[in-house]
This record gives sequence, structure tokens and C-alpha cells, in this order.
Amino acid sequence: MKKFSKVVPAIIILCIVGALFGGNGKSKDEPPKEIPRDTVMVASNDFKPTRPIIVVEKETENDKVLSKLEVHYIDVGQGDATLIKCGNEAMIVDGGNESKGTAIQLYLKKQNIKSLKYVVATHPDADHVGGLDVVIYKFDCGQILIPNCESNTSSFHQLQQSMKAKGYTPHVVDVGEKYTLGDAKIEILSPSAEFTFSDTNDSSIVFRLDHGNNSFLFTGDVTIPPQQALIYDPDLDIDVDVLKVPHHGAATAYIKGFYDEVSPKYAVISCGKGNRYGHPRKEVLNDLKGRGTKLFRTDEQGTIVALSDGKSIVFSSEPSETWLPGDSAVADSSGNTIETPTTKGFQHNLSEAPKAGVTYVYNSNTKKFHRPNCSSVTDIKPTNRVDLTCTREELLAAYPSAKPCKRCNP
Ligand SMILES: [Zn+2]
Ligand SMILES: [Zn+2]
Repeated sequence: MKKFSKVVPAIIILCIVGALFGGNGKSKDEPPKEIPRDTVMVASNDFKPTRPIIVVEKETENDKVLSKLEVHYIDVGQGDATLIKCGNEAMIVDGGNESKGTAIQLYLKKQNIKSLKYVVATHPDADHVGGLDVVIYKFDCGQILIPNCESNTSSFHQLQQSMKAKGYTPHVVDVGEKYTLGDAKIEILSPSAEFTFSDTNDSSIVFRLDHGNNSFLFTGDVTIPPQQALIYDPDLDIDVDVLKVPHHGAATAYIKGFYDEVSPKYAVISCGKGNRYGHPRKEVLNDLKGRGTKLFRTDEQGTIVALSDGKSIVFSSEPSETWLPGDSAVADSSGNTIETPTTKGFQHNLSEAPKAGVTYVYNSNTKKFHRPNCSSVTDIKPTNRVDLTCTREELLAAYPSAKPCKRCNP
């Protein structure tokens, strides 16, 4: 009752005020006051309007005109580097190996990039972070995102040096974190900030990028364990339109279940022409071919650009039709990638790719030794891996318990 007695006089006063001043003192032609976009005005029964009521309906996500999204899978030979632009904002994901830093700098300059909102170093391997130090030195960088992964690689050390020089503190990402780039949305799917993988590749930052109805998945070099986690976590959605194929299409990073879950309409493989690892492997290519995925490859097509308006995706080149797997034997015998050894000796090489001249790779954990092009080599934990430039006899003299790998028969 008390409430009612207060409300009634208030309504009466409002009605009088409305009748007295509604529309008074203003010319008919004067436009109505600007109404906030999201405001919805509703006519009430007991208040007669003197001005037209404007009902602004909230725009739905599908109707909204989005600023265009560009994803540039830059050809950096054997490695990864992706530039993503949306509206006035840009980010880079990895920067190829050390020799590609300047080429990436020039590419960004040509694209009119002045600053990068995010720099993502998916994992510390040389073919991913090698060129990023140049990018950090040359551009204003908002946030630098790294995974929870300790590494002694020289490339990672250089990356840290560049951040220190510019006064940047990197942010260690965590599953579920969300970021925005123009009208695009980013969600971190892996790794967790608390959990560490024994393999550097598995620490790779995996994220999805959503732009209207279009979606992209970035996977770094994750092999099977993180992929399984992604498949079975009900909170993580990896069903996207464009898949950046994990680990350059390596067989050690292939499980059918992952591709079933992603069911990509398009796939992009970033790898070097005639690379010594034999990327991409036929298992991956057969899978993609079998499900009708349109494939793009930097080793065949150079830099590939995907353009999204939020509804459809257009690529800068026609899909690859060769379905040609990499052949490590051909790559090695051609002499293009492995030079004749000039210096002999033992060195700890903690980067992903054995350097030219390396004759054997020894795993101090399993005590096995491999040919440098063996597919197992990239899976050896950096701290366990010793790259050798020596004869077989010298190797066995230095590591008497070493056993040859059964896969590559060194
Ligand atoms: Zn890689
Ligand atoms: Zn890697």
C-alpha cells in the first residue's frame, strides 16, 4: 500500500510535466535527440508520447558488417610465420628461422604495419622464434605471448634479449584466455600455464580465431598428446574452417581423431621446399585428400593469404593439387640441404633442425643415435639431444652404449 501511494502521485506529476513541456519550444523539423544505439524504447500505456518513438533493434552478430580479416601464411621456407590483420590491428604468430627476420620485417612494412597488438611465440624452436627478435626490435609490440616452456635454444635466448632491450615482459598464456583483434576473437586452447610438456613442440600455443561465421585454428608444432587433450576436452571447440596443419605435416604429429574433430574445409601447411624432414608426410596428405579438404602449401605456392568478411573465406591462390609428400631421402641426396662437413666435433645443438654438416643425432635419454633426417629427431627433447659432426666410429667411441635407431639404420 505504502509503495502504491508513492507511485501514483509520481505518475500524475510525470503526466502533467509531459503535457506541459512535451514538444514545447522546439520546431517540428528539429530531429529527435540522438538515441544510444542499443537503447530500446517501449511505449507505456499510461504515457502518451508527443514525439515519435524510435525503436532501435540490437544488431545480431550475423548482420554486423565486420572489418575484413586477413591471414597471411608467410613463406619462410622450413618454419612458420603468420601475419593476421583485422581492422586497424595486427598480430604475428612466429617469425620463421633466424635468417628470415629481415624478410619478415620487410613483409610487414609492405603491409603497412606500424605496430603489432600481439606477438605470439608458439614455442621456442628455431624455425618459429628465430626471426621474431628482429620483429620485436623493429615494431611497437603490445603483448608478447609465450607458452609455459623453459628452453635453452639460442633463438629463444635472442628473443628474450630483444624483449629485454625493448622493456617488454612476455605474458605466459593459459587455456581459456580470450583476446580481440579488430572484430576477430581469439581463444587460447593450449597449453595450460601450470602444466609443462616434456617435448618443446607440445608446449606450442594453440588458439582459435573467430571472425563472424569463419574460424581458424593455429597449432604450432603440437604432436599427439596435446591433440588428444583438445579432442577430449568438452569445453574446447576445435571444429574450424581453416586448419594450420600441426608441425608442418609431420607424421609424428598425426592422429586421425584430431582431423575428425577439426573437420577442416581448408588446410594450410607451412614447410620448406625439399626440407630434410620430409614434411609433409603422406599420412596427413591422404587424410586431407580423403575428406575433401582444400589444401594450401607454402612450399608449392609461396605466401598464402586468406581473406574473410565474416561470412566467406577467399584464398589468394588455387588449392594445391599435387598431394606430393615430402621425401627426406631425395632432400638429403640432392645436396641442397645438407652440405659436406667442414668442421668435426661435438656440439650441443638445441634447435629443431640439425645444422648442415651434422652427421648423427644422439639422444642421451634413450641412448639411441639417428641420421639427421630421421623423423624421430625432431621429437627429441632439446636437453637430451646432441648433434654430432663425426664418423660412426667416433660416435661409438664417445658414447659406447649408443645404439642405432631401428627406423633410420644409421
Ligand atoms: Zn616447427
Ligand atoms: Zn618445433
